[in-house]
Amino acid sequence: MTANSNRRKAFLEEMDLGPLWTQRHAPSGPEDALAAPDDGTAMPGREAGAQRSAQVAMPVEEAGLPVHPSAPPQPEVALMDWATLKANVAGCVKCDLCRGRTRTVFGVGDEKARWLFIGEGPGRNEDLQGEPFVGQAGKLLDNMLIAMGLRRGENAYIANIVKCRPTDDNGRDRPPTADEVAACLPYLERQIELIQPTMLVALGKTAALALLGLDPDTPVSRLRGKIHRYAGRPLVVTYHPAYLLRNMADKRKSWEDLSLAMATYAGAD
Ligand code: SF4
Repeated sequence: MTANSNRRKAFLEEMDLGPLWTQRHAPSGPEDALAAPDDGTAMPGREAGAQRSAQVAMPVEEAGLPVHPSAPPQPEVALMDWATLKANVAGCVKCDLCRGRTRTVFGVGDEKARWLFIGEGPGRNEDLQGEPFVGQAGKLLDNMLIAMGLRRGENAYIANIVKCRPTDDNGRDRPPTADEVAACLPYLERQIELIQPTMLVALGKTAALALLGLDPDTPVSRLRGKIHRYAGRPLVVTYHPAYLLRNMADKRKSWEDLSLAMATYAGAD
């Protein structure tokens, strides 16, 4: 066993033991199992998911994208380069989430990465630091990446569906609304076009439904364990790290999802 594989094994074992995680908000029911404000996972052996086969390809439905009435005229997002895109996100007022943010959270990582991981939206720590997946959920995601032979910033890019933190009337994290997702999604779509990733991983229900263009009532239980398609690229759905922090029993399922993604990536051009 190489030093590198020993390192991955150590991280897998760490996830199996599972540190004490904090939740963003409590799930409302079984369908919330894939939602961002969920629990955390422990990753079982790498063998489990690698044997799963690719199954259903699902088309992406491009939804209409309403613009907030207060939004100023904006250059066509689909034509922006990295610098223009970042500047526009930093000053964006396309939806009401701009009112409560401390900082926009654009995304982080290798801009030529083959792997793109997409979560729901910034939480409190992310809003303060301007980087996605910090805190305990971020540590778990970093461990998941390392177990996959990846690293934040090295062949992996991390982004969210919305760039500003959604909160409820009590200042607690909440999932973004459909309108907020629609307003922000063009930025992520442009990021994907610029990165040209080989493999996409949707972390949680919000990311999965937004990227696949599915109705909110779509049962998410059937989204795992399949290869979906986003703009022709393979996409795998797994649990959000914040969910895995609170639901240790689902770590094995998440590792199966990541193993499916790795097997798909290995077979891609
Ligand atoms: S969430 Fe997205 S669309 Fe809304 S203000 Fe922030 S950057 Fe703009």
